[in-house]
Amino acid sequence: MKKLFLSTFLLLTILALPVSSTTSLDGTLIALDAGHGNGATGAVNRKYQVAEADVNWSVVVALQQKLEDAGATVVITERLSSRRERVKDAIKKCKATELARKCDVLVSVHHNGSSSSTHDGTLVIYNERKDIPLAKALYNALIEGLKLPDEGYLHGGYGMTVYGNMVSAITEGYYITNDSEAEQYLNGTRVAEEVQALFNGLASYFDGEYDFDNGNKGGNGKNK
Ligand SMILES: [Zn+2]
Repeated sequence: MKKLFLSTFLLLTILALPVSSTTSLDGTLIALDAGHGNGATGAVNRKYQVAEADVNWSVVVALQQKLEDAGATVVITERLSSRRERVKDAIKKCKATELARKCDVLVSVHHNGSSSSTHDGTLVIYNERKDIPLAKALYNALIEGLKLPDEGYLHGGYGMTVYGNMVSAITEGYYITNDSEAEQYLNGTRVAEEVQALFNGLASYFDGEYDFDNGNKGGNGKNK
């Protein structure tokens, strides 16, 4: 009888556990960087006077919350003027967390600029071969989530992804110079869509879906 009671108790305990108690993001250490800021606007939508720096910040703050809710530890870099200093800051902040180690990844969030008010598209930039799984995961999730013209995931020597030997990527989810995008941003719908896409991308990256030894040959350019 005692045994039966015990097993019933154990079964109920197991059933009471939340289903989503672990995600691939649980225990990860993620650095987020909101491009520009601190006096630098980045790209600007002239019609609506929306600055890229503000959009980047909105996305990063909302993404931090969502990742933390899924068990990740997240640091946001100071908006310092040099990219090298930002990476240094990310490394310092990751070390200062309870996990006290190197950041697992650094994602720098940007939005693109064009002289055309109708041009749009999604682009992800990486620098080194080791960054490809992250770049590809973010890129695929953004393409799926935002449904914009595909501008690829490209190799580029942009500072942020060079320093600190950290796995990193720069996202350009859409063009803030596109008037429809600026409208959607101001209407308050676009941030959540992009945050969900970036979240999905990070979750699939940490799932190992994009590891080189999972058949990912890396490469350069569009994921075709
Ligand atoms: Zn930018």
